[in-house]
Amino acid sequence: MMSFVDKIRNNEYFKNLNISDDVLFDALTKTVSRRCLLSYISYLIKQKTPFSLAVIDIDNFKQFNDNYGHMIGDEILISVTSIMNSVLDENTIVGRYGGDEFIIVSTSSIEYQDRWNCLKSLFVNIRKPITLGQSTFFITCSCGQSAYPVDDTTYDGLFLKADRTLYRAKNKGRNCFVIFDKVKHANLTIQTDEQVSVKMLQINKIFKGKQELYSEIYESFIKISNMLNIDGIALFSKDNKQIIYSDIFSDKLTKVPEDIYESDEDIIVVNERGKTDKTKTLFRYLQENEIKSCVIFRLNNREKILGDIIFYNSHYRLWQETELALITYTSIYISQLLYYNK
Ligand code: GH3
Ligand code: MG
Repeated sequence: MMSFVDKIRNNEYFKNLNISDDVLFDALTKTVSRRCLLSYISYLIKQKTPFSLAVIDIDNFKQFNDNYGHMIGDEILISVTSIMNSVLDENTIVGRYGGDEFIIVSTSSIEYQDRWNCLKSLFVNIRKPITLGQSTFFITCSCGQSAYPVDDTTYDGLFLKADRTLYRAKNKGRNCFVIFDKVKHANLTIQTDEQVSVKMLQINKIFKGKQELYSEIYESFIKISNMLNIDGIALFSKDNKQIIYSDIFSDKLTKVPEDIYESDEDIIVVNERGKTDKTKTLFRYLQENEIKSCVIFRLNNREKILGDIIFYNSHYRLWQETELALITYTSIYISQLLYYNK
């Protein structure tokens, strides 16, 4: 059997890349590094080569780490990826997205039945008992998959669809895969510019006539959370007034720490998996408040800092550009209300 490294070095794209192994491969699993995998996906899109993109995540992996230690956790990651390597053909590349999550890109076939068979056989093999030292482990995964060009024609769109279907798989109870289907997953479609304009008008309406910011705005937060599918919104003004709307946590969110902002930034976006290079303080804050993804907006008016607003979720989320546009719009609106309510 060809090793991962040989298989990738034989691939039409990677063999012409003049890069060292430590850039091309993830150090632990020897799957393709995230960066190189993303460039491979861009290349396929540029070449108009049809491919499927699966996002696969180990179920309850934290438990293995917690119960057996990180070393065993690492061994499990290595075992699972080598199973993937043995089951998947030479037209299929596995890359590490981060942690226990991998992306599988396959140019073999984008026919539904072929994709289904391939994922089925992958799942059957991953489920087989894995023996490490004295212990035997039963590992399962969840997976979501989309395909180029049928489901989308950009990496962001494809990833979003695969990722949302992965979460569907997790919610179905894990240990399964979900293939994106335009009809079944219609509510996963990305918003058009027209829909964004309509939502901006709705936001205008929500705020219209609001004078007494602190007594009236709570209602607006509920409406906006529903519209944008956000678990909670919290406003912290500079003079310590707060409004927190949340449909999941008790309203115990703590004030946004001062030092999370870097120099001139007014907006911080913690996307899907939270992998940004921001400061430690930010991550401590998110962890303490059980936030997995959020957008934090510094409220300014005429150079004056008025407070902070945070839009947050308890689950991972890929903020779409259109959602960020609406969040920005809302935040600017609130800045103005705060300014005139001083
Ligand atoms: P879920 O079924 O929802 O995916 O549950 P989970 O426990 O797998 O949750 P999640 O995917 O969020 O957890 C991933 C864990 O993987 C968290 C982190 O501690 C661990 N992890 C990330 N990278 C590594 C690594 O390189 N080695 C080891 N041993 N653990 C890692
Ligand atoms: Mg996991």
